Amino acid sequence: MVRAEQIIYLDNNATTQLDPAVIEEMLPFLRDYYGNPSSGYMFGRQVRQAIDLARQRVAALLGCEAKEIVFTSCGTESNNAAVNSALQLDPNRRHVVTTAVEHSATRRHCEIIAKSGFAATVVGVNADGNLDLEELERAITPQTAIVTVMWANNETGVLFPVDKIAEIARRKRVLFHTDAIQVVGKIPIRLAGTTINSLALSAHKLHGPKGVGALYVNKRSAFKPLMIGGSQENNRRAGTENVASIVALGKAAECALTTLAEEESRVRAMRDRFENGILERVPDTSVNGDRTARLPNTSNLSFAGIESDAALVMFDRHQLCCSAGSACRTGSLEASHVLSAMNVPPDRARGSMRFSFGRFNTQADVDKALEIIPAAISKLRALLRATVTREPASV
Ligand code: PLP
Repeated sequence: MVRAEQIIYLDNNATTQLDPAVIEEMLPFLRDYYGNPSSGYMFGRQVRQAIDLARQRVAALLGCEAKEIVFTSCGTESNNAAVNSALQLDPNRRHVVTTAVEHSATRRHCEIIAKSGFAATVVGVNADGNLDLEELERAITPQTAIVTVMWANNETGVLFPVDKIAEIARRKRVLFHTDAIQVVGKIPIRLAGTTINSLALSAHKLHGPKGVGALYVNKRSAFKPLMIGGSQENNRRAGTENVASIVALGKAAECALTTLAEEESRVRAMRDRFENGILERVPDTSVNGDRTARLPNTSNLSFAGIESDAALVMFDRHQLCCSAGSACRTGSLEASHVLSAMNVPPDRARGSMRFSFGRFNTQADVDKALEIIPAAISKLRALLRATVTREPASV
């Protein structure tokens, strides 16, 4: 087993380390307070109170009301539930508008929808990963039930102007949902006063546990549940609550809110020192995605001439964790759908890597990464050159 203390963890967009304060808060609900929150006696009611507190804490982080929060099993469920609800609300609205760079939690769902008697329009992005809002507006028709657009891209960190998109949807009298799974806890959010109808978040991206998420549903927006059964979550999500994880999500939200102002600039400074350091030390390296409208923690870099899968293995030997932008599927290296949508040239896309920072990273991690990565990339390039020159000329 690789020990956590040994690693340089630069993959915080994949998942995050649990905050020790979160573990402390959730443990009693695994060990001692096992009552069912729906039970009428005090042993159950006190668990209900803990869920209510978690709801208030999540609402405080999002700048909305507690009654607008529905706990779910993950970010994927939150996204699926919002789109499903919109398609059920009005049988005459059978169309969804989305983008080419969404996470599979939205992308695959829309693909399935489009094969099941509904329709989906996928709006593209430019080379910086930005959307053309006029094109998005043109995609909305009288049959559109919902526009679903992520707030920040998980691969590049590019931020979409969701307030403006929500306004366009409102003018067109269409619901607007945003996948804010990469945003919550990283930048300040204030939903009150926006026209966003629903928003998805996931605890494990903000130093909470995996397998719990939440869906914000604006108090004036109608909603049809995905999970049908008991009356939990005010009839919006059936099933006995995952109490300890919900309590943990509440604590993670509270920790995020108290540290946000400081962490946003600390993490941004670390990411920038890392990114600039790599650009200085490694020739033929470029940044993917808009560098201004971007999450403070994400850096997506392309190292020309290398394959990201090979770099991942090399970094892994030094216990450095990050993500490869391309993945080996059935023997061929497939570029990510995000970089393909941005028209990143194949050579650059094949050598793309995502580095994402978080609350538990230190400047020492940046120092180590700045030693490991340039050496590994130049070794890979040298290996590649040697292989190419050794190869017999084709006839
Ligand atoms: N949406 C985005 C943008 C994500 O980054 C992720 C997770 O990587 C998800 C959705 C899925 O969230 P979960 O793992 O909680 O289902």
